[in-house]
Amino acid sequence: MIHVNDLHKYYGEAHVLRGISCDIQPSEVVCIIGPSGSGKSTFLRCLNALETASAGEIIVNGYAVHDKKSNLNLIRETAGMVFQRFNLFPHMTVLENIIMAPMSLKGLSRTQATELARTLLSKVGLADKIQAWPTSLSGGQQQRVAIARALAMSPDIMLFDEPTSALDPELVSEVLDVMKNLAGEGMTMVIVTHEMAFAREVADRVIFIDQGIIQEQGSPQAIFNAPQNPRTQRFLSNFR
Ligand code: ATP
Ligand code: MG
Repeated sequence: MIHVNDLHKYYGEAHVLRGISCDIQPSEVVCIIGPSGSGKSTFLRCLNALETASAGEIIVNGYAVHDKKSNLNLIRETAGMVFQRFNLFPHMTVLENIIMAPMSLKGLSRTQATELARTLLSKVGLADKIQAWPTSLSGGQQQRVAIARALAMSPDIMLFDEPTSALDPELVSEVLDVMKNLAGEGMTMVIVTHEMAFAREVADRVIFIDQGIIQEQGSPQAIFNAPQNPRTQRFLSNFR
């Protein structure tokens, strides 16, 4: 479903991704962990063309993302993204936030899009907030709306970049629960996270990135119980 081969990314002189290769299967849930500045966000952003690859090959659900001729809209439809900061449009209600893209990009009628929004809001436990303004919602609620909004484009893959790290601790689990349900439904997911308990429970595979390279990857048991790479060991010792 996702094929990445020898991906490199430079920002000016800085060589931020230094040869990343990986394949992600349909319905696989991959958690990416690693220290700050290691290139996790850059990698995720390359997957849906928010950043251009400097070299290498990225195929996402059949789209050649590294090819500048590829249609960016189609790539971003197939791979929805949720960011650390809830980026709902503040001047729009929850409903408007969710229906805007499906109406303008997928040609849904307002009635169809509203029906879809109702279904998705129920799914994230916010059916009663359809007419609310984003600022009236908690961070956890806003983030769940952001997930519903991404799902409204019927993505085949969901990318999450530290979706809970800006939340107050008591709001983290409501967002992780929504993600757990999505994983249970068979969504293909790539999740950058520091929530090790979540990764242990939900991930099929954990990838440890440091210094722009996949240093180690494996099952959650392998990575968390018996990491082989000293860098992984050192990184994980911060979470014990
Ligand atoms: P964090 O855990 O703090 O989110 P990260 O692993 O997501 O870190 P990235 O955001 O991918 O790290 O950044 C990797 C490196 O690339 C860092 O050194 C960062 O300063 C640099 N970088 C990221 N975005 C840009 C940019 N737009 N321009 C220049 N340098 C950038
Ligand atoms: Mg990041």
